[in-house]
Amino acid sequence: MIFKTIAKEDLKKLFDVHLKDIECVGPKQVAASGGGQPIYQFLPFESFDEINLDHEKTEYSAKTYFIPFRETLSSFKFNNGDWTQEINYRKQPRVLVGLHPCDINALVKLDKVFAKDFFPYPYYLSRRKNTFVIGIDCEKPCSDGFCSSLSADVVTHGFDLFLRDIGDKYFVKVGTDRGFNLLNKINPTDITPEERKTYRKKTKEFLAGFEKTIRVENLPNTLDIEFESGGWKKWGDKCLSCGSCSMVCPTCYCYGVSEQVSMDFKKAEKVKQLYSCNLFDFAQVAGGYNFRPARETRLKYRYYHQHRGFVESFGEPMCVGCNRCGRACLANINPVDVISDLQMEL
Ligand code: SF4
Ligand code: SF4
Repeated sequence: MIFKTIAKEDLKKLFDVHLKDIECVGPKQVAASGGGQPIYQFLPFESFDEINLDHEKTEYSAKTYFIPFRETLSSFKFNNGDWTQEINYRKQPRVLVGLHPCDINALVKLDKVFAKDFFPYPYYLSRRKNTFVIGIDCEKPCSDGFCSSLSADVVTHGFDLFLRDIGDKYFVKVGTDRGFNLLNKINPTDITPEERKTYRKKTKEFLAGFEKTIRVENLPNTLDIEFESGGWKKWGDKCLSCGSCSMVCPTCYCYGVSEQVSMDFKKAEKVKQLYSCNLFDFAQVAGGYNFRPARETRLKYRYYHQHRGFVESFGEPMCVGCNRCGRACLANINPVDVISDLQMEL
């Protein structure tokens, strides 16, 4: 890995001068919470001054720029007994800046599902390949994040450039050759021993600041042993089956596909829409039978996919510990409490 430093004003120049013709997306403040805390979302911006790289974390994850909530997979036209099909993969380049380690590690997990499996998903691939990712380390752990428990607090790949604020400069990790080429437009400098020391000190302080942790060792086995745990009923009874947790999650990717035909039978579309395993009809099949009619079984299924099924398929949990799900949940259900409850049963 190549490391460089750049002046902060040069990063601004990169966006305002060199990237001004490309769609740029970054963390913008959209509102404030009741307690006055700023709420951020990844949104398109025109000037670098519109975004804040010191943001804590965005309310929604960046997955929407790779697997949107709803997308048309193909359109059909019917004419005189014949038909044509049109498929559009998005190819327009985009720069996504301000992703934290949890956000980038989430993309690396989505890559395993959509880009590296037997049948890579072309809609995801086209967006991933045409998105230039600039990440940034968090200044301190977010109030409820537990990314360090899931080794998602450090990034080694999945980005083009990755920054750490070291005062009046950014310490930059270069992840790809296209990252290297872009960086060279803004006079990067070699790292001095003093800058290396500052980088190490800030990294150490960040790691020491975590308040929330979970134990994930042996969790797949714990989940199997605790399949009938009363904990599922306790949390399931609170769950509203709203699906908000899956929508804000940076790695949840379950979806449904519907076919919509126009009233005059001249046009049709195949539409993919993100779905949540917590929604009532997620496991309903033809004939009306529902494999998971109870709230607790649906809630349990989400935890099993995240912390057991994904481990079985890819050797690691799907969760990155950002706790966006816990923040979004109106019933105050969060992974740290649910998993701790299960572990207490042993
Ligand atoms: S979960 Fe970790 S990486 Fe993500 S915002 Fe919080 S501290 Fe940063
Ligand atoms: S866990 Fe919370 S956010 Fe998720 S479906 Fe249940 S109530 Fe909604």
